Amino acid sequence: MAPDILGLELQHALQRLAAEGWEVTVVITRAPGGRTDVGTLRVARWLVLGERRGIITAVGQQGGKGGAVLAYRITDDCQACGTCAESCPNQAIVEGARYHIDPERCEECGTCFDVCPAGAVVRE
Ligand code: SF4
Ligand code: SF4
Repeated sequence: MAPDILGLELQHALQRLAAEGWEVTVVITRAPGGRTDVGTLRVARWLVLGERRGIITAVGQQGGKGGAVLAYRITDDCQACGTCAESCPNQAIVEGARYHIDPERCEECGTCFDVCPAGAVVRE
């Protein structure tokens, strides 16, 4: 059964899912009418795709510290080669069957986008 993660802070939700072996795609959207503070992202939608695979849509709260929507995202094309994680200056990339970006550490430098040999990092 899928864990109940709706409303949880994104990073906690991802840690819980990773511990249970879930492969998760994260989609980050702005809060309606507000700016998105990447430090306060919360799980707004949780869609189970199949056996331990799912999609999280996370939104920021309105009136945050003025941070921006995370500019880069790792897609299902990720081959888990590790190149981006080795290149990231902020240790913001988390290993997994598919790697993902920790929004609390990422400073949107674009290095992962530049180095990924699979074209798996996309700019939002
Ligand atoms: S460099 Fe690309 S393919 Fe390799 S782990 Fe990072 S996102 Fe995945
Ligand atoms: S954009 Fe820069 S800081 Fe963010 S995950 Fe990619 S390499 Fe790391």
